Amino acid sequence: MAERLTPLEIMARLISFPTVSRDTNLPLVDWVERYLQSHGIDSHRWPDPDQPHKAAIFAHVGPWEEGAIVLSGHTDVVPVDGQPWDTDPFVVTEKDGKYYGRGTCDMKGFDALAIWALVEAQYADVKRPLQLALSFDEEVGCTGAPPMIQAMQKVLPKGSAVIVGEPSTMQAVTGHKGGFGYDTHVVGFEVHSSIMHTGVNAIMAAAPLIDWANQRNAENMAAEPSDIAAVFDPPWTTCHVGMIEGGTAHNITAKDCRFMMDFRVVPGEQAAQWRDAYLDQVRQAEVQIQAVHPEARIDVSDHFAVPALVPETEGEAEILVRSLTGDNATHVVSYGTEAGQFQEAGYSAVICGPGDIAQAHQPNEFIEVSQFDAGHKFMERLVQRLCK
Ligand SMILES: [Zn+2]
Repeated sequence: MAERLTPLEIMARLISFPTVSRDTNLPLVDWVERYLQSHGIDSHRWPDPDQPHKAAIFAHVGPWEEGAIVLSGHTDVVPVDGQPWDTDPFVVTEKDGKYYGRGTCDMKGFDALAIWALVEAQYADVKRPLQLALSFDEEVGCTGAPPMIQAMQKVLPKGSAVIVGEPSTMQAVTGHKGGFGYDTHVVGFEVHSSIMHTGVNAIMAAAPLIDWANQRNAENMAAEPSDIAAVFDPPWTTCHVGMIEGGTAHNITAKDCRFMMDFRVVPGEQAAQWRDAYLDQVRQAEVQIQAVHPEARIDVSDHFAVPALVPETEGEAEILVRSLTGDNATHVVSYGTEAGQFQEAGYSAVICGPGDIAQAHQPNEFIEVSQFDAGHKFMERLVQRLCK
């Protein structure tokens, strides 16, 4: 019989592949495929036709019928560039009750537990199927999951309840904000800065759009939150610019300025209204710069859009997770996940995974050993439940 690795051994393997979103995840996918195959589990890939160096992988164990529980994770991690790490980020290092490594928390720890559970389910007498779904490009806007979900539904019997294992300290998270973002490209007109009034400085034209976000945040923060928004932290819609580049020299009006404008919208507010409000500002700014030079313009393209996870009433995934964890409190988060995308595709979805989101994306990212163990216990109980 093939060797059955422990969750920790599986996590160590997964973390050894530096699957930063921009880079290939195929060596990791190959390893998962071979490992599952060694236990008699056939898996399926969805290779991204536009990015041949990336693929999603999914698998089904148990009776070939609908109604599986789906364990969903992403294989990609955020970069370590410029972060001061005390250990090798791609080697799991145990220290002071913590496992350090890029992705231990977000979310190869869960991926490892899910792979472990799938193999356990393969050897147990499960009466209900279990599925594994590992995506890519989650960290760059959750763009990998929707085509994977479509592919899964063509190849596998449809699952019914999805557990998305983003770090939630093993609490059942039943709602999150929707998120969407735009690449905004201000195209200016270059002249010597001494005669800047005859040119268009793309950086300075971008500044009011970014300050518009500051003003909206201040307004939203000052306003009384709605009942549905009040459970979120923060309880308002946020507008954020996390990247900007532009200009070539201090004495040239910048020809280009690109920035990313992201929104995280509380349930109860319409994403479309925020989009329209922003695009209205962009059009006004464009009119102003075109009055100076007709070639100046502002291009806006979608960067990402992640649907909100809307709390379900009597949702199957939530009920299952609550019965396995004993957690009956209400939790929502402000970050987007693939849970909203599964929900949109007709699954009941909940977020529940080990680790604390506060440790995600950080230098010296870690997961508490106790959290990883709690995830292990959760998976043991889940497989037992599937046998009933
Ligand atoms: Zn994540």
